[in-house]
Amino acid sequence: MSLKRRDFLLSGSGIAAAVAVSSLASADIASAQARRPPAKWQQAADVVVIGSGAAGLPAAIVAREAGASVILVEAEKDIGGHAITSGGNVPLGGGTSVQKKYGINDSPDLLFRDLTDWSVVEPNGFPDYRYNDREIIRAFADNSAPTFEWLVAHGVVFVDKAPDDFGGTSVGNSVPREMHSAVMDWPMVQTGAPADPMVQKMLSSGNGLMRPLEAAAKKVGVQILLEHKMTAIYRESPSGRVLGIAVDNNGKKLDIQARKAVIIATGGSTGNINFRRMFDPRLTEEYCGLAGMPWSNQDASGELAGLAIGASLWGFYNQTGEFGSNLTKPGTVGSQYGYVNLKWAPGSPVFDRARASGLSVANWQDLILVNMLGQRFYDETGGQFTANDYNSIKDYVQGSYLNAKNAKYNPNNFINAALAGIGDGHNGGGPIWAIFDADAVAREKWDPNPPNVDAKAGFFFTADTLGALAGKIKMQYQRAPMPPENLERTVARYNSFVDSGVDQDFGKPKPLHKIEKAPFYAAWATPVVHDTRAGLRINAKCQVVDWSGNVIAGLYCGGESAGGFSQHGLARAACQGYIAGNNAVGAATQRANAG
Ligand SMILES: Cc1cc2nc3c(=O)[nH]c(=O)nc-3n(C[C@H](O)[C@H](O)[C@H](O)COP(=O)(O)OP(=O)(O)OC[C@H]3O[C@@H](n4cnc5c(N)ncnc54)[C@H](O)[C@@H]3O)c2cc1C
Repeated sequence: MSLKRRDFLLSGSGIAAAVAVSSLASADIASAQARRPPAKWQQAADVVVIGSGAAGLPAAIVAREAGASVILVEAEKDIGGHAITSGGNVPLGGGTSVQKKYGINDSPDLLFRDLTDWSVVEPNGFPDYRYNDREIIRAFADNSAPTFEWLVAHGVVFVDKAPDDFGGTSVGNSVPREMHSAVMDWPMVQTGAPADPMVQKMLSSGNGLMRPLEAAAKKVGVQILLEHKMTAIYRESPSGRVLGIAVDNNGKKLDIQARKAVIIATGGSTGNINFRRMFDPRLTEEYCGLAGMPWSNQDASGELAGLAIGASLWGFYNQTGEFGSNLTKPGTVGSQYGYVNLKWAPGSPVFDRARASGLSVANWQDLILVNMLGQRFYDETGGQFTANDYNSIKDYVQGSYLNAKNAKYNPNNFINAALAGIGDGHNGGGPIWAIFDADAVAREKWDPNPPNVDAKAGFFFTADTLGALAGKIKMQYQRAPMPPENLERTVARYNSFVDSGVDQDFGKPKPLHKIEKAPFYAAWATPVVHDTRAGLRINAKCQVVDWSGNVIAGLYCGGESAGGFSQHGLARAACQGYIAGNNAVGAATQRANAG
């Protein structure tokens, strides 16, 4: 595993624990300096792909099938990236065979206009599509349906039903486009075992997307080098073409020549604290529960290696805008990794690093959420930012001024309040703790013990009184002690709201349950950093563009490491991998080659 680990002592608790935190150690900003090309290469291929996720595997297969020799390097012990941990909801549209089968009238033009519609705004006023790069979206719209058919031809089985609007964010409002890759009988990385045979054809999962692509890549002869982390990209001169990459294989260094192209498919930057803070200064180190971790990290190594040889960045708004799933409310509490749709079970190959599964919250009425100082900050039932999908806007007409004009301003500021902090000048909001009692445990049917919770590493605490509970909360990111009297006062006030039926502080709809029966619990419930939507500047062919607006010869990028496209995930990544792989070997794609 190439992730750096930082051992630390939990001050005061006397417990030593190793917690994998994303850190700059693996790819820091200082590394964004060009390296001199080597005199000798240890390996060579026509095309070198960096990363084996949703963009990388399609890129590698496409290039290999077009006749190129292909080496794909992957930093982790296994393939798949965030894509294999994903829900497998794939919004490829523009007139796919499945859309046609179910009588859904979609086209590249409709998809393009959807994803560039200035008039779509969320209830908080943020637009999903206004800042999308038209050239990049045109290429996606034109290649969306071909990418879908290509996935099917390469072994991906989609759940046999009409496209819907489930599981996507920012996929356009005109028609349903969401399709779902069936898990089939692939062992799931979340559990280490296949899904129940009864549901294998119906369960949408990234395992059902990535394992067939891995098999296809191996079948056509893509050379996959696991535990090979790209550390630099070589360019022949500051304005010359890209020549290859440097790689670290568990301490062993080697240089791989790319005779035609290098494709960056490294998956983004959410795990690089300094990099992500360019877009949002609030995202300091306590946001350590990244979605997709600990399967694979997003440490911005692709972006930094690109920047080092002159690449530019693009589309910053898409990362900062308050829509979609860039930042999410956790769905489980009591463990470091609390993303709502990803629960690690003890059988998972990465459970030693996940350490706990977390307690899934069925009803946010069963707990209160407090900041580091033991103070509530928002209605616990509040949700995260919303996004635009089919049916999000009733009476939608593309480009109509009425879409924005009719939007009812109704911001959900749960995430913003959680990130607001305690007024001590620190940028991040600090840890958020779910506080609950024995009655809540019974109502939720939780077992608040390992492997469900991570007390050892400081993500879960128990005590017989609220005061003692506050005193026990000591861990790396709790930079100020929680005053016991604060927590006692907060709970007493909340209990009085249950009596009166009115939350006078945050308007929680009719608070239902008092917190009064020992033992009491504090469980990690800090927001989760999820998508990267800003990254390297690319053009319609997924060629990387420099600070003068010129193409860097031989360098391509797709997926979360590429900027200019605000959309959650798999479709964007797979389609750009398809485009990059084709163009890297000079093959034609739909219209993307026109200009
Ligand atoms: C839990 C979860 C659920 C999701 N569900 C959905 C969903 O249902 N639908 C949807 O559309 N999207 C979903 N997404 C988002 C989607 O998975 C990602 O947007 C998509 O996988 C991005 O593809 P990518 O190729 O850019 O990155 P990834 O799939 O993350 O792949 C990047 C790969 O590059 C490797 N890598 C990174 N740096 C280096 C380096 N220096 N050298 C070598 N290798 C490197 C990584 O280890 C990784 O394997 C989900 C994400 C998560 C985390």
